[in-house]
Amino acid sequence: MSGIRPEVDVEGLVARAREGSPRAVARLLSLVQDGSPQLREVAAALAPHSGRARVVGLTGPPGVGKSTSTSALLGALRARGERVGVLAVDPSSPFSGGALLGDRVRMGEHATDPGVFIRSMATRGHLGGLAAATPQALRVLDAAGCDVVLVETVGVGQSEVEVVALADTTVVLLAPGMGDGVQAAKAGILEIADVFVVNKADRDGAEATVREVQNALSMGRREQPGPPWRPPVVRTVASRGEGVDDLVAALDSHRGWLVEHGREGDGRRRRARAEIEAIALAEVRGRLRAVSGSAALDRLAARVADPGGDGGALDPYAAADLLRSSVDLDR
Ligand code: GDP
Repeated sequence: MSGIRPEVDVEGLVARAREGSPRAVARLLSLVQDGSPQLREVAAALAPHSGRARVVGLTGPPGVGKSTSTSALLGALRARGERVGVLAVDPSSPFSGGALLGDRVRMGEHATDPGVFIRSMATRGHLGGLAAATPQALRVLDAAGCDVVLVETVGVGQSEVEVVALADTTVVLLAPGMGDGVQAAKAGILEIADVFVVNKADRDGAEATVREVQNALSMGRREQPGPPWRPPVVRTVASRGEGVDDLVAALDSHRGWLVEHGREGDGRRRRARAEIEAIALAEVRGRLRAVSGSAALDRLAARVADPGGDGGALDPYAAADLLRSSVDLDR
């Protein structure tokens, strides 16, 4: 497998990425996304150079204005001199969302800005799925000197919530007239939001949506352990850049709260947990798959499927126990 692809000079690549080379950053992100056999080496080389970037997750239903807001936020953060990475994560798609060209078109004026790295992410080839790939990609962008990485989720559903759990600060976007407030409360999105945005505030019903969110917040939010953070509700018209400064202020304020309470490392630890777990699960799965084609599994399958045949009857749980014990998972 690795005989086909030439070995990559990981140390050299990381050194160039740290100097801000967009090509080196893009190459490292591709290694992550493709689940390169050299990922262990990549992770080791990046480790000493990461742990600094703030990760902001943006989520919400399709059409609410996530890409528009991400782009506006990118502009505002660039304007104050921050280096910004953008990961557009699509948990539902096995394909990259049109990698470079699509991203450049999408982000218009930011495409040629050397202080910006933009990438669409999917699970293509990655054994640990997005839970492993996203933290690894974040580490690449972190090592490349990004002050902030915006993680925009494209899909909807549980996987989106999981991806957003990798952020230091999570922004949930809603818009008037979509019944979002109620849906959000139902989907448990209330629990994960650090900042709410009611986008499309130029539309009728924006105030009603704001009130709906505020009501849901005052009633429905389960108290988290420790001192409470009250998620602000920010109104924006992302397509005109209105309210984006308020959003930046809300993000700063949440960041300040985390620091004040000694919790600025929480997100980093959550990401590490998800990553470790995903890597370990992928390895276990890989080992089990390696015996899947074996005669041992065939024999077990025959005993489950044809209880009257050779070897004696076996129920599938007992067969799974035997399969597991035949693979040394700690090797
Ligand atoms: P996403 O699917 O959540 O990423 O949403 P997009 O950012 O692609 O936006 C969906 C549509 O809403 C686009 O046509 C945007 O131009 C439009 N849009 C975004 N923000 C606003 C806004 O504040 N007001 C109005 N009226 N339209 C907006």
